Amino acid sequence: MNDCVFCKIGSGQIPSRMVLQDEEVFAFEDLNPQAPVHVLVIPKRHVAAMNELQDSALLGRLFHVANLVAQKKGIAASGYRVVANTGKDGGQTVFHLHLHVLGGRQMSWPPG
Ligand code: 5GP
Ligand code: ZN
Repeated sequence: MNDCVFCKIGSGQIPSRMVLQDEEVFAFEDLNPQAPVHVLVIPKRHVAAMNELQDSALLGRLFHVANLVAQKKGIAASGYRVVANTGKDGGQTVFHLHLHVLGGRQMSWPPG
């Protein structure tokens, strides 16, 4: 999608601090981290939100990469949170599907 910032990050048109990638998925540091570890995991192709993801294999890959990110960042054992803000009430601000991988501190519940 032409004017989508995460499409541009996933294709390297906009620079980011990449954590890892495969053919379909790209993981990079959040610009405004909410925890000592805060990485975003996105599909390289444009999918606006969870509601529009029909491809269960891609969904599996996103979670698989989130798992690899947690290992690479050293938070797999201590624990972490994976979040997909969806739509207005979910607090989504960028309409290209992304998983937040948050860790390195104690998370609270319920979320705000
Ligand atoms: P949302 O609120 O949609 O769940 O999360 C969007 C996230 O994207 C936010 O945590 C925000 O800090 C991050 N973000 C927005 N624009 C950019 C950008 O250009 N680069 C990076 N690395 N992160 C971004
Ligand atoms: Zn996009």
